[in-house]
Amino acid sequence: MSRDTALVIATFSRRMRVQLADNSEVEARIKGKRLKPVCGDRVTVEAIEGESDWLITSILDRSNELTRPNLRGAVEVLAANLEMLVCVAAPTPKPDWFVVDRYLCAAESMGVPAVVAFNKTDIAGPDENLAVYAEIGYPTVACSAATGDGLGRLQELMRGKTAIIVGQSGVGKSSLINALVGEAALRTAQISRKSREGKHTTVNSVMLPMPGASTVIDSPGVRDYAPALESVTQVVRGFREIERAGHDCRFANCRHLQEPGCAVKAAVESGAIDARRYESYRRALRLLPRGPA
Ligand code: GDP
Ligand code: ZN
Repeated sequence: MSRDTALVIATFSRRMRVQLADNSEVEARIKGKRLKPVCGDRVTVEAIEGESDWLITSILDRSNELTRPNLRGAVEVLAANLEMLVCVAAPTPKPDWFVVDRYLCAAESMGVPAVVAFNKTDIAGPDENLAVYAEIGYPTVACSAATGDGLGRLQELMRGKTAIIVGQSGVGKSSLINALVGEAALRTAQISRKSREGKHTTVNSVMLPMPGASTVIDSPGVRDYAPALESVTQVVRGFREIERAGHDCRFANCRHLQEPGCAVKAAVESGAIDARRYESYRRALRLLPRGPA
């Protein structure tokens, strides 16, 4: 029997398209109900005698997963083994920087580098928040999927990496993906579009090759959601500048709310920490399943 390890490059409910070690692409089904491969997964596959389909028999350990809570409150994995999160905002719809901050928290928890992109510069330039992210240490880019402005820099930031583009609905994620993949992925995109139209499924993601040896994951699951946060520690770790300043707080378990001797509150008052980011931090704490306690 023929066996191989493969990369999951497109998912359509329980059907997958995988890339074998020799770079050829085949369709695959999944062995058993419990196995839930996603785009970016490395899997073991077996050829099925007399069929063109292969069978996915196991998922190799993931280095990370991007998850979201589904409608029943269970955790759904959107993509695995990511090397970059590109968080997009734009002048329209009105930027919700809190959504960007939630994604940055997720990136920090996943141990994945994040970029903040401000799209649609042809409509309006970036507001002051982009500079705030740059100050904190995130690479930022102002770009326009419509005119191509800034896309070279974005491509450079994504070079050689497997990235996912996330952000509010309407900021231009699909437009950016189309502009970034260009001709290289046209064929793959057509295949995936055809397959997607043919099925009544909700989650169907695809990995598209970009120039510069990058890969971008197009996942409808990233629309209109913010990742779940579980603990105070996770929230603190998700706001780099707050975590850094927090080392100087009087209490090691300071939540940076009302505690005496809080270096974070002092930094917010002096302007060293951006007040909007601090508000975002407080909001993330309030939204924890058990509150900020
Ligand atoms: P998504 O929901 O984030 O995937 O956003 P889309 O890519 O579907 O774009 C939403 C709307 O914004 C569409 O009408 C796009 O044509 C428009 N759009 C996307 N990028 C740009 C841009 O750079 N400039 C302008 N003016 N419009 C854009
Ligand atoms: Zn503190």
